[in-house]
Order: sequence, then C-alpha cells, then structure tokens
Amino acid sequence: MTARILVVDDIPANVRLLEVRLLAEYFEVLTATNGPDAIETCENGKVDVVLLDVMMPDMDGFEVCRRLKSDPATSHIPVVMITALDQVSDRVRGLEAGADDFLTKPVNDLQLMTRVKSLVRLKTLTDELRLRASTTRNIGIEELLSRNFASADTTPKVLLIDERKSSIERVQKMLRSSADLDIATDPHAGFFQAAETPYECVMISTGFADFDPLRLCSQLRSLDRTRFVPIILLAEQGEEGRIVRGLELGINDYLMRPIDQHELTARLRTQVRRKRYNDQLRASVTQTIEMAVTDPLTGLHNRRYLDSHLQTLFDRAVARRRPLSVMITDLDRFKTVNDTHGHDGGDEVLREFARRLRKNVRGIDLACRFGGEEFVVVMPDTDGAVAEKVAERIRAEIAQMPFAVGQDGKTIEVTVSVGVSSVLKGVDSVAGLMKRADLALYEAKSAGRNRVVAKAA
Ligand code: GH3
Ligand code: MG
Ligand code: MG
Repeated sequence: MTARILVVDDIPANVRLLEVRLLAEYFEVLTATNGPDAIETCENGKVDVVLLDVMMPDMDGFEVCRRLKSDPATSHIPVVMITALDQVSDRVRGLEAGADDFLTKPVNDLQLMTRVKSLVRLKTLTDELRLRASTTRNIGIEELLSRNFASADTTPKVLLIDERKSSIERVQKMLRSSADLDIATDPHAGFFQAAETPYECVMISTGFADFDPLRLCSQLRSLDRTRFVPIILLAEQGEEGRIVRGLELGINDYLMRPIDQHELTARLRTQVRRKRYNDQLRASVTQTIEMAVTDPLTGLHNRRYLDSHLQTLFDRAVARRRPLSVMITDLDRFKTVNDTHGHDGGDEVLREFARRLRKNVRGIDLACRFGGEEFVVVMPDTDGAVAEKVAERIRAEIAQMPFAVGQDGKTIEVTVSVGVSSVLKGVDSVAGLMKRADLALYEAKSAGRNRVVAKAA
C-alpha cells in the first residue's frame, strides 16, 4: 500500500523522526512546519493522511484540524493528531475538531503503522467513490454533499454487542443522549441483528467468556449488508495485540477501558459522520449511473444502455438457442406534431407514446428511447411471429386512441411505423439484427406508414 502522508510539526527533528519511519514502510512523505503551510499542501496536493502535531505556535493543531474539516475540499482527508500528553481532554478536543484519530508521543511504531494503514484504506474507498461521483456529474460533488449535511445531526442507531451487564449499563448511561442504542448479549444473535437492521455503528466488547470478538468483526466485514458499517472495539488494557489484529480485519476504531464518556461520544460521532458521508457518496454514484442510462423525458432506458446490453442479450440467446426479436418504432410525420403544437406538445406525445409502449411489453423486454421519436424494444425468448403480433398491438393502440396535447383537452391522431427482426440461426450479429429491423421500418414508411413490417427470419 503506497500513500502520501503529510507530517506536520513545528520541530524539524520530530518531523524527521516520523519521516524516516514512514519512508521505511514505503510511504511517500510530505512535510510542513506550521499550520498554514499544512493547509495549503492539503488544498493543493494529493494528501492521503495528515499526522498533525497539536502544539504549534500561532496556529495550533486543533485549529488546523478544524479548518481542514470545515473545508469541503479537504474535509475527507483523515487527520491523526499527535499530542505530547496522554490527556483525555486533548483527545476530546481533537475529536471535536474533527480529528480521525490520536497518537501520543513518543509514538508507538506499531500503532503508528496500523492506524495510518487503516486510515489510508478508508481514504482509498472514499476517493474511489468521490471520483466515480464526480466524473459523470457536472455539479460539484462537494456542494452536493454539503447541501445534504443539515441532516447529519440525527441520533444514530447503534448496536452494542456485549455480554457483561455492568459494562452494558455503563455504555447505556454514557450514550443516553447521543445514540439510539440496541443491545445484543449473545454474539451470534448480535451478528444477525446487525445484518437485519441498518445500524450506523456496531460496538463490540472484547470481554466474552468464550467467544473470539474478532471473529465477529471479520464476519461483519465479509457480509455485504454490514461491510461498510463502522465497528468500534471496546477493549481492555493490555489488549494492544488484539486491537492491532482488529484494525487489520477492518474495525474502524477502538476504546480502552475504563471508557471515558466524552471520548466515546466523540469517536462515535466521527464514525457516524464518516459513514453518512460515504453513504451519500455511494447514493450519488448510483444516481449518477442511473441518470447516465435513463432518458429524462420518458424515463425509459437510453441508447447508451441499449448499446451496452443488446450484445449481452444477443449472446445469451445464441448460447441458449433461444429466439430473440427486436422492433424499431418511429412516429409518423412527427415533425408536423411539433410544427402544429409546439415542441412541448411534441414532448407530451413522446411521453404518452413511451407509456403505451411500456404498457404493451413484458417486464423482461428492454424498451429504450433510441433517439428523437424512435424507440427500440428488445424481446428475449420471442420469435419473429410473436414479435410481429406485439408490434401490431402497439401500432393499433397508438392509432386507435388519440393523444391529448396542451391544457384545453385538445387531442390529435398519432400513428407509428414499426420494423421487426429476429435473430437468424447460424451466422448473425447485433449489427445485422438492427440493420434488418431498420430496413423493415423503412419499408413500412415507404408503404404508407402506420404499419408493421417484419423481416422474415
Ligand atoms: P416520418 O414519418 O418519415 O418519420 O416523419 P417525421 O417527421 O417523423 O420524421 P423526421 O425524422 O424527419 O422528424 C423527426 C422529428 O422529431 C424532428 C424533430 O424535431 C423531432 N424530435 C426529435 N426529438 C424530439 C424531442 O425530444 N421532442 C420533440 N418535441 N420533438 C423531437
Ligand atoms: Mg418519424
Ligand atoms: Mg425519425
């Protein structure tokens, strides 16, 4: 794993110390000796993780962190605060400033590497989502995300998996006002509960009498539905080894007992905030993909979608020796509809046509707007004779029922011409299939429109 780590400390010797250790693990290292420089580097460069000294003159680490986290352009970069004192109050201040984690000086090597690696892994996921979300969408993803951030303060639904009554009660008390907490005392039941309910965080205690809590972590990570849920481990003093293994398995954070209430709520808040950010990114990616393959006027799939799926449907039909038919429809004299009723009137007709088309094909048929007033329907498992009947049904449904245009109840007659073709046994191709449907459509137009022509297989 290579990643670019920014080390920020006002004392050059401290910077060099961390730099050497990170370089030994083949990380790329950038350095800064004050807050403003660090912020500038984050804004300009591709920084994957920031290791940030708390005590610096002029602008301290808390302020740097706050600024990084409040700027949408840098808020996704994980920040690890490095403090000289093992002070809970410092940790809490840092987490409240939005820091993702903490290390105390002198920095323990194993902790440094595992935390950095775990944050880099998370950042890689976020980056991938950010990239996919922004490549096909013009409006800024940052703007989109910050707009939705108003909803970020709702109480998160959290599951605690712990079998010790006293520990459960303590956590319940601590989270009373900051989480909607469910409890599972049996780890197996807890696993199923986590899979069934959309929790925003799962907390797992390490204190089971005869169950390995890390098994639960790895199970949660391998199940699709819980793969992205943040996991916080509640560990005992002296369990560093277990924590390190947990981080390697993909837990997101841990707390050592005795648990400090402020640290618990701050860490929970960090995890929930990050999950919500990633969930929004993921939803935006899905929406972007849907938009990319959908025709906005009719809601049908667009030509791009047809181009990518027709080959698959064709190959499948050939491999299974099943029939496959295609029809191309083209509205007759559609230019006159536009000329007489305006472009909006034309759009209304296209929408209504798409509705009738969809109504007359099966769920497994693929109906697309091919462009303009041309539509294509791909019909798996359908031979030429049946396809011709379907096409005829559609033609009749268009011709027999006038289309409404405008507000004043005006209606117009619309007709459609249809060309049908089917996969030929032996040598055939998608291009051949489409070409024959197109020729058939041309014949339907030449023969007087409002008719179906099928190219015999
Ligand atoms: P033919 O019977 O030969 O198909 O005649 P036609 O007028 O339908 O054929 P032509 O292809 O010449 O014209 C298609 C018209 O469809 C031209 C174009 O302005 C119109 N059109 C294409 N896309 C849209 C659209 O999204 N909305 C509207 N309102 N009109 C569109
Ligand atoms: Mg036309
Ligand atoms: Mg046309």
